[in-house]
Amino acid sequence: MNNRVNPELLIDLKRYGEEGAVNIEACFNCGTCTAMCPLTSDDHPFPRNTLRLVQMGLQDRLLQNIDPWLCYYCGDCTETCPRGAEPAEAQMTLRRWLTAQYDWTGLARKFYTSKVWEIGSILLVAGLVVLGFVLFHGPVVTDQVELNTFAPVEVIHVLDWTMAGFLLFFLMTNVIRMYIFTMRRGSQTRIPRSLYLRELWNLPYQFATQKRWSACEDRPSWLSHAFLVSGYVLMLIIIVFFLRWFQTDNIYPIWHPQRWLGYYATVVLLYGAGRAIWGRLKKARQMHRFSHLSDWIFPILLFGVTLTGIFVHSFRYLGLPLATYITYVIHMALLVPMLVLEVPFGKWSHLAYRPVAIYFQVVKQKASLVESELSLA
Ligand code: SF4
Ligand code: SF4
Repeated sequence: MNNRVNPELLIDLKRYGEEGAVNIEACFNCGTCTAMCPLTSDDHPFPRNTLRLVQMGLQDRLLQNIDPWLCYYCGDCTETCPRGAEPAEAQMTLRRWLTAQYDWTGLARKFYTSKVWEIGSILLVAGLVVLGFVLFHGPVVTDQVELNTFAPVEVIHVLDWTMAGFLLFFLMTNVIRMYIFTMRRGSQTRIPRSLYLRELWNLPYQFATQKRWSACEDRPSWLSHAFLVSGYVLMLIIIVFFLRWFQTDNIYPIWHPQRWLGYYATVVLLYGAGRAIWGRLKKARQMHRFSHLSDWIFPILLFGVTLTGIFVHSFRYLGLPLATYITYVIHMALLVPMLVLEVPFGKWSHLAYRPVAIYFQVVKQKASLVESELSLA
């Protein structure tokens, strides 16, 4: 185990949090936060230990740690901390820091620590999308709406697949680095490969249900998040696999599943993103007291993408060609940066890292259990 000390660790970590939000130096290690956490367990206590690692500058040990991903920011620990050390916000900041460490391109670090990089990259990608449409759009038919002439679905579908491949490549290579840090370097136990296979079901299960979160008392947030996830998973499946069916100039009857699936996704995305923005504006709950730029960018982009999607749909049904085409370009100029920047390098990546961390945690626990049974035999 590497115990090399980085005296700058806390200073570095503060770059990933809002001004005044990271107050780990105030912690005197009383352990109240761990006692209060509804998600902690006797064999795997947190969050106190992560704060201790930061105080001691043990960067490699922190990198090998998955605890921040096990936290769902209910805020109970912060409410009861006698020192105002903000342990819940510390876990949030550590999740950003870990995301940046897993990311080999260095872009996550740039986005999380520089407003210019984060906003500039979004504007750059959005600008390129608009430029692409200006230069390469199809014929503009104005006597009726022909979106598939203006933006042929075959071309858009090829671009979708290219984008999906791009996202998957960066996300997967970063997950492999997470595996190396946490399971290869961070485990004292020998883990049989069969155990990884046997517990693999945890990945889709945790992703779809976020089951651990439901153990917190904040069930409305868990439910809202579950609907939100169902909305963008549905949209992602439609965009990647069924775009020809979805982006069509045919007007389907109201009872058609193409319309109802679209309406379902739209409602839950709009509600989920709107709820997140409203919560951060009101700052009524612990998890919304501090808002890093990345906490704003994702729901704002998601809200914008959904809203412009509604406009494209409405203008198409109202028979307004130019309004449909222009709104479609704006829709894509918001959608593409949200997917290519936020999914692999930004806030969205936690949707991948969190279930992976829970899966790794289960594998580690079961491997230690097997090892201790063997040593007793
Ligand atoms: S964060 Fe607060 S509650 Fe937790 S160990 Fe430190 S001082 Fe105690
Ligand atoms: S925010 Fe909630 S889940 Fe996270 S460490 Fe604190 S008490 Fe535990």
